[in-house]
Amino acid sequence: MKIAVSACLLGENCKYNAGNNKNEDVLALGDRYKLIPICPECFAGLPIPRVPSEIKDGKVYSKDGVDLSKEFADGAEKALYVAEENACQFAILKERSPSCGFGTIYDGTFSGALTNGNGITAQLFYEHGIRIFGEGQVDKLIDELNQIEE
Ligand code: SF4
Repeated sequence: MKIAVSACLLGENCKYNAGNNKNEDVLALGDRYKLIPICPECFAGLPIPRVPSEIKDGKVYSKDGVDLSKEFADGAEKALYVAEENACQFAILKERSPSCGFGTIYDGTFSGALTNGNGITAQLFYEHGIRIFGEGQVDKLIDELNQIEE
């Protein structure tokens, strides 16, 4: 069983600010499952560090006003390719990100406010039947995997 994982959750310094979101619960899954790192924004060729982006009215804009919708779509397609090549049926994606967030994302005002919605990659994964969990839902994912393996 392979699980696609936002690379920043595994400690890769691929965030917009060149940091990471290392999460020990996510890393511990690597004892039982093969974790496949994906960073859609890196796959799109965006630099590290980079200006942060958020989704507004269905498009992705950097904080300085550049429309990066095409780049985010390209990164999402590449991340999906990696996930499908590895037959990943599950993904753990960074919550709230304009690429990886699922269910709740930043609202496009760069104020820290949240809104309902999916990041560009999370939406594409969802449309292709990949089950998505946030980093705060590792226990839920383990329960589901245990049921499959029973
Ligand atoms: Fe993490 Fe996803 Fe942002 Fe890459 S695009 S830094 S994996 S949240």
